[in-house]
Amino acid sequence: MFNALMINKDEESGLASATIEQIGVDQLPAGDVVVAVEYTTVNYKDGLCLSPKGGGLVRNYPHIGGIDFAGTVESSEDARYKAGDKVVLTGWRVGEVHWGGYAQKARVKADWLVPLPAGLDTRQAMAVGTAGFTAMLSVMALEDHGIKDGPVLVTGAAGGVGSVATAILAALGHEVAGVTGRPETGDYLKSLGATQIVAREELNEAIKRPMEAETWGGCVDAVGGEMLARVLGQMKYGASVASVGLAGGAALPTTVIPFLLRGVNLLGIDSVMRPYDDRVRAWSRIAKDLPMDKLEAMVQPATLSDLPKLGADILKGQVKGRVVVDVNA
Ligand code: NDP
Repeated sequence: MFNALMINKDEESGLASATIEQIGVDQLPAGDVVVAVEYTTVNYKDGLCLSPKGGGLVRNYPHIGGIDFAGTVESSEDARYKAGDKVVLTGWRVGEVHWGGYAQKARVKADWLVPLPAGLDTRQAMAVGTAGFTAMLSVMALEDHGIKDGPVLVTGAAGGVGSVATAILAALGHEVAGVTGRPETGDYLKSLGATQIVAREELNEAIKRPMEAETWGGCVDAVGGEMLARVLGQMKYGASVASVGLAGGAALPTTVIPFLLRGVNLLGIDSVMRPYDDRVRAWSRIAKDLPMDKLEAMVQPATLSDLPKLGADILKGQVKGRVVVDVNA
């Protein structure tokens, strides 16, 4: 038997809540690899899954959340993995429709795993987690389309995606401007390599003109909404925005003008259904390009019992950097 943070739905109120329960491997969903989970994290989607109504993501209760985890293979029916291998998992709707990493063991499809890249341990892999993996995918997408001269803007900079994107871009030699609604995180963002801090209020007003001064050589956007609309009109000619998230809203109240008159590219980034080769490439870039001391500066340690509160905090935009959950603590 092992510990799992089980989310159960109260039939009377229709609301869900999470408590630690003891379960057995035979209760885990079908899959060909059993992983002894070591670390997991808190991403925005985890906050949604832990919320009383499941955030529109959880279909069936009881449920075990945790959209990513890293650990050691305990047993495998797939030739690609054997007991003792270190693995990491992101995406494939694990933690949403399939039980995830908020337990000391998980059973998943071998296709969803990747071997832990050389240079990262399981704790560091989850300090990166889905948010950091997505930040790397965003940087790679910007590189594919060419990062222009001038600062690269990162929105939602003090959050998970934003913190890792800031550190990677700065380490690659780009000037980074971080947008934050929390002025007190300015020193933290500078320690990750940001050279300019932009106050959220400056960018989250509705657009008045479809184009403003050409300012940003690229952008990783975790916020969406009016901020993204505004940023599109401030991009340099031919520059790209990697659209990652919607922490500030799903609507996009813009016009076609930045696309027509400035050749701006809006690149959608999906980390969930990423083919194996893409995932391996992104993880090896993370191991190579993300400075580990900067990663450490983002980490807030936690245990399984801290997760319900942290899930609520992340939905309020109150988590700074990356939470690393030691499931065995
Ligand atoms: P976090 O909560 O850690 O970060 C989001 C940040 O956005 C906050 O820290 C805050 O930054 C800012 N923010 C929050 N609310 C608002 C608001 N109303 N207006 C403006 N800014 C706001 O979440 P993650 O970094 O883990 O995820 C960010 C987004 O990316 C989420 O929408 C998530 O679902 C999405 N995502 C998408 C993935 C994909 O595959 N496309 C994968 C991973 C995440 P600050 O305090 O600095 O202003």
